[in-house]
Amino acid sequence: MDQRKEEGTEIAPEIVEEIVRFHGHMCPGLAMGIRAAEVALREVGPCSSDEEVVTLTETNMCAVDAIQYLTGCTFGKGNLIHLDYGKNAYTFIRRSDDKAVRVSTRPGAFNRGPEYGELSARVREGNATQEEQARFEELREDRIEAILQASEEELYTVEELEGVEISPMARIHNSVPCAGCGEPTMETRVQELEGRKLCPACFEAALAAKAKYWETRTKA
Ligand SMILES: [Zn+2]
Ligand SMILES: [Zn+2]
Repeated sequence: MDQRKEEGTEIAPEIVEEIVRFHGHMCPGLAMGIRAAEVALREVGPCSSDEEVVTLTETNMCAVDAIQYLTGCTFGKGNLIHLDYGKNAYTFIRRSDDKAVRVSTRPGAFNRGPEYGELSARVREGNATQEEQARFEELREDRIEAILQASEEELYTVEELEGVEISPMARIHNSVPCAGCGEPTMETRVQELEGRKLCPACFEAALAAKAKYWETRTKA
């Protein structure tokens, strides 16, 4: 592993601003994402046209936007894969030599203290006074700043993984018209019901309608 950073973020303020514009707001989650992406850039580099990087993300929260922005691994390109584990953890894999690093939040790194927790709950429930709201904003700002200035080690555990294999992504599929709504639908997503090829939405609707029909029949 390359030298770990002992000081805060090296991402330039104007880039941070662009990330905030992309995400829509600044928040502690986004700051955590910036710091995770920095590890990716150092360990496996950005995803470029001649160097493909794949990110496995174990969360779908704010942080992922910073990772998409900085690494170039995006949902649309198919090199950002969501594993719904509910963890602020990411694995970055460079295809050319299979170098893979997993970056996971250190226990306690997200420890926000009791005041933050209480205020956050009151704000969420809409019960905060104006003063409490202001105090919460202040703590939140401090927290974002603390994340951006922390050493990498305080925030994340970084481990190199051996033998992570990512199957080549077959992303081009034919589309066929759905027998229900007529919309072109990726062949691999179409399901058949009574001889009709249906898109997932029409398939679900047809199944629900059938269930309802039998429910009324058995009641009668
Ligand atoms: Zn956010
Ligand atoms: Zn349909």
